[in-house]
Amino acid sequence: MNNPLLNKWNTPFETPPFHLIKTVHYSPAVEESIKSAGEEIKTISENPEPADFENTIAALDRIGERLGNVTSVLFNLNSAETNKDLQEVTRDISPVLTRFSNDITLNETLFSRIKTVHDSRDSAGLNTEQKMLLEKKYRNFILGGAGLGEEKKSRFREISEELSQLSVKFEENVLSDTNAFEFNLTDETDLAGLPEGVVEMASMEAKSRGKKGWVFTLHFPSYVPFMKYSEKREHRKKMFKAYTSRAFHGDGNDNKKLVTKIANLRLELSNILGFNNFSEMILGDRMADTTTKVLTFLDELHCASKPAAQRDFEAVKKFAVENGHKGKPERWDWDFYSEKLRKSRYDIDDEVLKPYFRLENLEKAILDLATNLYGIRFIANNQIPVYHSEVKTWEAFGDDGLFLAILYIDYFPRPGKNGGAWMTSYREQKTEAGKEIRPLISIVANFTRPTETKPSLLSFSEVTTFLHEFGHALHGILTRCNYESLSGTNVARDFVELPSQFMENFAYEKEWLSQWAVHYRTGEIIPDELIEKIRLSATFNEGYACNRQLGFGFLDMAWHTLTRPVSDNVSEFEAEAMAKTEFFPHVEGSNISCSFGHIFGGGYASGYYGYKWAEVLDADAFKYFKEAGIFNSETAASFRKNILEKGGTDKPMNLYKSFRGREPTIDAFLERSGLK
Ligand SMILES: [Zn+2]
Repeated sequence: MNNPLLNKWNTPFETPPFHLIKTVHYSPAVEESIKSAGEEIKTISENPEPADFENTIAALDRIGERLGNVTSVLFNLNSAETNKDLQEVTRDISPVLTRFSNDITLNETLFSRIKTVHDSRDSAGLNTEQKMLLEKKYRNFILGGAGLGEEKKSRFREISEELSQLSVKFEENVLSDTNAFEFNLTDETDLAGLPEGVVEMASMEAKSRGKKGWVFTLHFPSYVPFMKYSEKREHRKKMFKAYTSRAFHGDGNDNKKLVTKIANLRLELSNILGFNNFSEMILGDRMADTTTKVLTFLDELHCASKPAAQRDFEAVKKFAVENGHKGKPERWDWDFYSEKLRKSRYDIDDEVLKPYFRLENLEKAILDLATNLYGIRFIANNQIPVYHSEVKTWEAFGDDGLFLAILYIDYFPRPGKNGGAWMTSYREQKTEAGKEIRPLISIVANFTRPTETKPSLLSFSEVTTFLHEFGHALHGILTRCNYESLSGTNVARDFVELPSQFMENFAYEKEWLSQWAVHYRTGEIIPDELIEKIRLSATFNEGYACNRQLGFGFLDMAWHTLTRPVSDNVSEFEAEAMAKTEFFPHVEGSNISCSFGHIFGGGYASGYYGYKWAEVLDADAFKYFKEAGIFNSETAASFRKNILEKGGTDKPMNLYKSFRGREPTIDAFLERSGLK
């Protein structure tokens, strides 16, 4: 078969030939590329020469180029422009890829070569980047169980498999309890306070379930506005209790046993690999690379934000009483009175701002910002093949005139696109045999479409989302590394959000907003008063929110720093871990751990702190920018040279210190969030 995925890509900049690729091409292309990657592995592991960095570690990083090209097209399209057939192909291919990657990790001859290189790492004359690559590869094998003896290896495999099943089961239980609940209202007076759009959605939900009236559910688009706006206290209480008791009913969907089982198995797994606890194992390659660092960080932020949290709590309580609330406010009153207080203080909403945030203006402003800060020039090129006619493409060049990357942007929602926004790539940057391969970067979003009468007018959060994803894109575009596994956004998980969150800061700067945010009809520049409201409302209840998030961080760390198995009562364990961040009394029948999907279902175990960690970093970095003026070219050059170009070629703390001249402190974060 003539398969465009396997042929040389005869397109501008060797971009994927989307116009030629059909769904039937993927499976044979993956099969063929796995075969050739397998041959490459064999060549490395059976090399008669003694193992060294170049013939083992660097060689390993170069294998499977074609497999990478094919799978990135497949996975990217399955997120951005999918259909039933493509989903089926992806489902079929995923286990094949997992098997292939397990075959590599458990290849003993290959691992013994890697170990040889690792054992002699200090005398091999490696540079920092090479050391980082060696550690990364070695760690992947070690955490995959490669270094264990037969007996331990078999227990390791048992635990890994059981853990992956338990996580799936955990999520299934939460989902089925989420779906099982419905709140059917039939009396119109019960809808008091709810916005029109929310009521309309509830009415459609009722119809689709063959019910009269309105149905509210525990899914976010229904639950969140209900808790914020419903005037009916008893109803809010009912919704709250249903939400916080998911997978905690003592029935077949209960997660209590799963929580302790997962925590205990994670402990055992980390012990087998020689670590004291699971956190220690996970944090090894993070910026906060020890449990002590993470716990100290959480404590420090907690001490600093507690007084502001207390103030927020008292202010909402006082506001509630002034507005007719009887007795003590409970948890189910918090969102309701907070929203009312916010509205009364700042009187700002999206409808006022949107006319100033026209997508075309923002696109130009963001590209100009990259030119202004880093000298990047973007030139539109509509000859580059795209997977949908709405996708826009640019060539990016550096201030030295050299080609940097291709940038794709895909703005609007379509039925075949996942929700949310993300940055991804079709090819990563690397240097091969002295030749530099430049990356193909893509931003995918779901922004408000233009209508017949209006251009695309964005909400403020869409503006920050665009900046955020563009920050990740710059990390990809500007990278200059030798090895693919270290280039671009291939950095520690608690460091990767620095370049993206950093860019969001510009959305609050008058100097930048006034350059482009003009009313789409009148051409009037956004008034100072509106900018001021944006800034002030951004810090509203930040103390309380920060404290709450820290509570989740403490809980995550408590479950993953166990050094002895627990048989504890999950509720007591949780209450103890979160005690210092609580303002409300415990609500009987509610539990967080049993529905904490981030840490028991997904990949955030011992990583929840990372949300706040990244905020501290980006605030500290942006403050440095502000000191010399937000467009200062020297600061920008340093951020580029020390962070955006460097990928994961050095430890994140070293990169940060080279940029900032010192380690980050929490001061800028506290100031920005109004917690000082
Ligand atoms: Zn991000």
